[in-house]
Amino acid sequence: MGRPVVIGNWKMNATIHQAGLLASAIRNSVSDVNGVQVVLCPPFVSVQEVSNSLQGSGLKVGAQNMHHQEKGAFTGEVSAEMLKGLVTHVILGHSERRRDFNETDDLVSLKAQMALIAGFQPIICVGESLSERQEGRAEEVISTSIKSSLSGIGPGSDFVVAYEPVWAIGTGEAATGSQAQDMCQLLRDCIAVVFDRETASRTSILYGGSVGPDNAAEFVSMRDIDGALVGGASLDAEQFASIVRTTALERVSSSV
Ligand code: PEP
Repeated sequence: MGRPVVIGNWKMNATIHQAGLLASAIRNSVSDVNGVQVVLCPPFVSVQEVSNSLQGSGLKVGAQNMHHQEKGAFTGEVSAEMLKGLVTHVILGHSERRRDFNETDDLVSLKAQMALIAGFQPIICVGESLSERQEGRAEEVISTSIKSSLSGIGPGSDFVVAYEPVWAIGTGEAATGSQAQDMCQLLRDCIAVVFDRETASRTSILYGGSVGPDNAAEFVSMRDIDGALVGGASLDAEQFASIVRTTALERVSSSV
C-alpha cells in the first residue's frame, strides 16, 4: 500500500490572484487532516504564488508539465531547473498533453528521468481511450504505456502513478470502483515487473477521472488505490477538502 496522496490538477484555470486565494482556502480546509500528502498543481505562472500561500504547511506544489531538456531553444517551455525550489512534484503524460501535444510514452520517460534528476517526484499518468476499452484492449494499452514510461528510471526512485481513463476525465462518467481497482492492481503488477515487488508496494497509485466528494470513497476504499488525481473538483476548496478527508478516513485509519 503506497502513501495516501491527493493531487489537485487546476489545468488552465485561475489567475495568479485567484490561485493564491484557492491555495489558502484549501490549506485552511485541510488543516485538521493528517496522513494524506496533498499536492496542488497550478499553472506555471501561479506556482510561486501558490508556493507562498502554502509556506509552513505540509501541502506541496506540483507543476502540470515540464520539458525534458536542460535548456535551449524551446520557445514557451519550462525546464526542471526553473522549477527547482518551487515544486516537489510534476504531472507527466496527462492525457490532455498526450492528446493535444502528441506526447508519447518515450517522451514521458525522458521527462520522468529529468524530473528525478531535479529531485521531483514525477506523477506519471496513463489511461486508455473509450475505443481501446470497448475493443477489450485496456489492459494491454495500460501495461505497455506504464512499462515504457518507466523505462530509463533507476531502481529506488520515488514516483507516483495515476490511472486516468481518458473517457472519465472531465466527463462526469467516472469508472466504477472495481474497474479502477483492476487497473490499479495491474499497474502495481507492472511496476513489480519493471522494478520489484517492494517498489510496487510502496508506490502510490491513484485513480483520476471525475472524482468528487460523492464518489471518492468508492475509489480510495479499494486495496490498490492510494488516493486521487482530481481535476474539476480541485477548483472548489470545500469539494477538494472533502476528497482529502475521505482519503484520510479510508486509508489512514485502515493502515493503523
Ligand atoms: C484530471 O485532469 O486529471 C482529471 C482527473 O480531471 P477531472 O477530475 O475533472 O475528471
